[in-house]
Amino acid sequence: GFKCGIVGLPNVGKSTLFNALTQTAAAQAANYPFCTIEPNVGDVAVPDPRLATLADIAGSAQIIPTRLTFVDIAGLVRGASKGEGLGNQFLANIRECDAIAHVVRCFEDGDVTHVDGKIAPLSDIDTIETELMLADLDSLEKRVTALEKKAKGGDKESKECLDLITRALALLREGKPARLVEVKPEEEKAFRMLGLLSSKPVLYVCNVEEASAKDGNSLSAQVFEQAAKEGARAVVVSAKIESEIAVLPPEEQAEYLEAIGLDEPGLNRVIRAGYDLLRLVTYFTVGPKEARAWTITAGTRAPGAAGVIHTDFEKGFIRAETISYDDYVKGKGEAGARDAGRLRLEGKEYVVADGDVLHFRFAN
Ligand code: GDP
Repeated sequence: GFKCGIVGLPNVGKSTLFNALTQTAAAQAANYPFCTIEPNVGDVAVPDPRLATLADIAGSAQIIPTRLTFVDIAGLVRGASKGEGLGNQFLANIRECDAIAHVVRCFEDGDVTHVDGKIAPLSDIDTIETELMLADLDSLEKRVTALEKKAKGGDKESKECLDLITRALALLREGKPARLVEVKPEEEKAFRMLGLLSSKPVLYVCNVEEASAKDGNSLSAQVFEQAAKEGARAVVVSAKIESEIAVLPPEEQAEYLEAIGLDEPGLNRVIRAGYDLLRLVTYFTVGPKEARAWTITAGTRAPGAAGVIHTDFEKGFIRAETISYDDYVKGKGEAGARDAGRLRLEGKEYVVADGDVLHFRFAN
């Protein structure tokens, strides 16, 4: 599955957010730096209102959402790349994630200590980014000598890798993240293999106080401005409120949300933004038994999409009966869509679109 790592300075609300996301008390929130020592992993259902609509039309007995994994990564402090705090352990945890949700403290609370003694989201962002870049610098510099030797010996792969590393190092030395490296399509795999922390896509999660849960505050506005400059994404959430809402029975959740002016939990925005950040799309399988959502990366062709359900579906793939979500709804189901000529038979080259309702034909 796809993994989104939650990072941020101590006491910004990472564990509170993670708890709310996973609705468990597994990650203990406490007003103490380094309180979460082991990375906590949680699978989160991706909210998608289309699923209920499809289930309604098809009379599906069950709804099965698709899931996204969040990892609560604690221990990032100034100097982590030099082994301060939990240092390298935390860096290794980030390396395994596909994207980063960077929680930024945008709430004032005299009872909750800020590690730097002041609430300054942009400076916090800078601190974390700097640690990621320093870690990347360090890991790349360590590899150069060995690669140079191999490249001189005529090894083509090493030469290509060295070329990528040289470009990445040039940026990092200017204080720019590795995600700004211009990577040619044929280099993409090698670039991914470098596992650079500052190359991962970032979502800034602005943790605000209750009163700003809907529209944010002046601090989160600064973060949004910064995100726009970087081409990154940002969302506003009040982790504390969300953690309180998460444990309420559904009827009371709706009431609470309405009272603070939200029409859905702020967490839904975080999950969906994480999903978008990973360039993930959803397709559906719908029948009387279940209406189910499946996750693929954007650009996946039909056989690959089938393989998410079962490897046999991919190996024996013949075609995919395809109805777009809108056509499925307009036709009030498969039969209606077929009658309207909206059911397509797609082959191996078909790139699955977000919202496709698929039925795979395959041979054993
Ligand atoms: P972490 O170190 O980043 O994982 O931070 P925690 O989630 O453990 O939160 C640290 C402290 O800040 C805890 O006492 C939380 O209750 C508190 N906290 C988290 N989010 C909020 C918030 O939105 N508002 C306020 N006032 N306190 C919060």
